[in-house]
Amino acid sequence: MTFKSLGLHPKLLDALKDLGFEKPTQIQHDSIPPAIDGADILACSATGSGKTAAFLLPSLDYLLEEALSGPRVLVLTPTRELAAQVADDMADLAKYTKLRVASVYGGVGMRPQEQAFRRKTEVIVACPGRLLDHMQHKYVDLRNVEILILDEADRMLDMGFLPDIKRILKRVPEDRQTLFFSATMPKEIVKLSGDILVDPVHIAVERDQAPAAGVNQKVFFVEQGRKSRLLVDILDDRGNDSVLVFTRTKSRANRLTTFLVRHGIESERIHGNRSQSQRERAMSAFKNGRVRVLVATDVAARGIDVDSLGLVVNFDCPGQPEDYIHRVGRTARAERTGDAYTFVSPEEKGHLRDIEKKIGKKIETGPKPPPSKRELTSGGPGSGPSQPRGGGRQGGGQRQDRPRGGRRSTPRSKSQGGGQRRGKPGASKSRSSGSRPPKRRS
Ligand code: AMP
Repeated sequence: MTFKSLGLHPKLLDALKDLGFEKPTQIQHDSIPPAIDGADILACSATGSGKTAAFLLPSLDYLLEEALSGPRVLVLTPTRELAAQVADDMADLAKYTKLRVASVYGGVGMRPQEQAFRRKTEVIVACPGRLLDHMQHKYVDLRNVEILILDEADRMLDMGFLPDIKRILKRVPEDRQTLFFSATMPKEIVKLSGDILVDPVHIAVERDQAPAAGVNQKVFFVEQGRKSRLLVDILDDRGNDSVLVFTRTKSRANRLTTFLVRHGIESERIHGNRSQSQRERAMSAFKNGRVRVLVATDVAARGIDVDSLGLVVNFDCPGQPEDYIHRVGRTARAERTGDAYTFVSPEEKGHLRDIEKKIGKKIETGPKPPPSKRELTSGGPGSGPSQPRGGGRQGGGQRQDRPRGGRRSTPRSKSQGGGQRRGKPGASKSRSSGSRPPKRRS
């Protein structure tokens, strides 16, 4: 499957080529066609899966049909970092179009953001609190919003944005398309999605309830400060297997990589602070066997697809059961078998209980590793100051935007014209309680 076969506009295909995206990720493959058809989408997909392009590409594709006043696409995100990231991704994807984007979040002056509304910017990426601040003024008119996107909806709910979201929903037309993305699907999310989506296409919701049958899962109970040593011992025992190791934070990934290299184990790392070219270099070194160990945070690791991955190690026990399932899903692909080891420190036992509850079974305890065959120096991530927080989400290390808080606005505009498009079918759907008018599709 190629992006071209998804039917995307040539200007978007050119931008994808520049970005080096050769083929759609799973979430893009699954969600772009129904989104182009105008369907509401309920997608269970976390950062790193390519979800941003999964909702931006069909939205931009639609906007290119004709030039109308914005905002026409409204993206709600929980954090200012995510808002800025989504706006940057949009700018990259829309580089050959005239479509403009502005991010709207707190902590910085309102004025440039106000200008973005006044200029009828087509795509607004906003944190709910700051958007509501603007909505008290007449210059905000959301009646032209045709596509509403909720990004990381679970995190928005965790952060207490539900009342804000409900207030925003009252001001956007009912006659719209809604794309709802969430890394997890707890009850409250299912309820919210039920309230705001109409006959949604469900994507990946069922898929991630349990790891594949071929995954041989084990836990190792180990003190935080002994994790690096345990990993080296396990690696020593496994010959030349390629091993993917997940850490909770970027700095732990850095320190673990340094520790492994210092002990003669060729290792690379990928995480959100590394540039695309650094990530690509690391990935290709791992894929072609030049390095044996790849250390990753969740942020960067979703797309990793390496054929012969025999072992995945959760160096830190994931705080979200869904992250565990995604991570261990990196092994035993295509009905092969593989091992997934999870290191659990005393303070992470609660996380393990949540995981076992989610997958519906107790994970076997791994054998006590033999005493180290070699002298190991200290300095791995467990021995440093960065101990895991008790709970919360995994990886990423994003600062969170509080309701009504935030930082900076980056409105930008792009050059060059939009082209003629094929028509897109309007999606007339009905709620069980009544009907909603056909979407305003040309
Ligand atoms: P996201 O899940 O949207 O945060 O995306 C994770 C990373 O994957 C980002 O660095 C994107 O630029 C990258 N990405 C998104 N789609 C693709 C693709 N089809 N091929 C390669 N990289 C991609």
